[in-house]
Amino acid sequence: MQEAMINKAKQLLADGTVSRVIGWKRGEFAYDITPAVFETAEELDKEFVYDDFTAANVSKYLVKESKKEGKILVFLKPCDTYSFNQLTKEHRVVRENVYIVGIPGGPKLDAEKIKAKGITGILSVKNENYTLKIDTVYGEEKMPFYEAVLDKCASCKSKKHVVYDELMGEEGDVLDSNRFDMVEKLENMAAQERYDFWREQLSKCIRCNACRNVCPACTCEKCVFDNPDSGVENKAPADSFEENMFHIIRAFHVAGRCTDCGECSRVCPQNIPLHLLNRKFIKDINSLYGEYQAGEDTTSRAPLNDYKQNDCEASVVHERGVE
Ligand code: SF4
Ligand code: SF4
Ligand code: SF4
Repeated sequence: MQEAMINKAKQLLADGTVSRVIGWKRGEFAYDITPAVFETAEELDKEFVYDDFTAANVSKYLVKESKKEGKILVFLKPCDTYSFNQLTKEHRVVRENVYIVGIPGGPKLDAEKIKAKGITGILSVKNENYTLKIDTVYGEEKMPFYEAVLDKCASCKSKKHVVYDELMGEEGDVLDSNRFDMVEKLENMAAQERYDFWREQLSKCIRCNACRNVCPACTCEKCVFDNPDSGVENKAPADSFEENMFHIIRAFHVAGRCTDCGECSRVCPQNIPLHLLNRKFIKDINSLYGEYQAGEDTTSRAPLNDYKQNDCEASVVHERGVE
């Protein structure tokens, strides 16, 4: 796949369709694949990477990149196309300045799950018939591929691209996903148990802002958390109130716009399952206003921006709160 993508990028650069390419290159470690912009065939040959660890959704980078001179090529996995559509709908990317090549998705791997098996000093990881052969400084290790799959891929909602100019490979389908299972488990907990679950999770937060910075739904020019007068500007939370506040405010800011791309949880260095907060919102929006998938298209009105006479009454919030 990597070679085919490099060839496609070179062809689109050579025929003038695009002037640059956003993709990925290797970082410090074999599993550390990071977004990068390429302008020449030589750069692509030297650094462009697409492998089992290429999970990063580059849609958000297009907020800035699509406003620059010339058209940019982007390779989008199915999940990433939902983010792109949502950004288009919110007029955050300039659609006509982007050439989208849809590529098949994952499942992608999570290096943290490999390390959690006690495997460290990783030099390289090879997938051989769905067994991972991991070369480490201490020798070779093996583990089943599916035990290292990213959570977002394990509960993937769709292998179908919702936007592209050109497709590489076969188109997939919207999946009958198990993504709300954990949300239901949390809903079935007693209130105190649920509170304790989230307190334990959120108490680990170091306010690195990675979840905010990676989220394609978090694109405000001025974020409330960057306000120097707020007292909470870019700092580690001082107490449990601040720990909760950051996440509750962020979750509400992306309510109805979160595409469930799972990037927030993927990048959290503390492994906090942040996507579960927004999945709860998605589930509630579906049950209160009818099925809705943010990013599925660029024209439908989002439930929270729309009004229908048969919408549920506002009192439902109060009633649910005392359940
Ligand atoms: S979330 Fe789904 S579409 Fe996206 S990379 Fe994972 S498996 Fe592929
Ligand atoms: S990425 Fe994780 S640790 Fe960083 S601010 Fe978000 S929740 Fe906190
Ligand atoms: S809140 Fe998380 S899952 Fe939702 S759009 Fe942002 S990064 Fe993706």
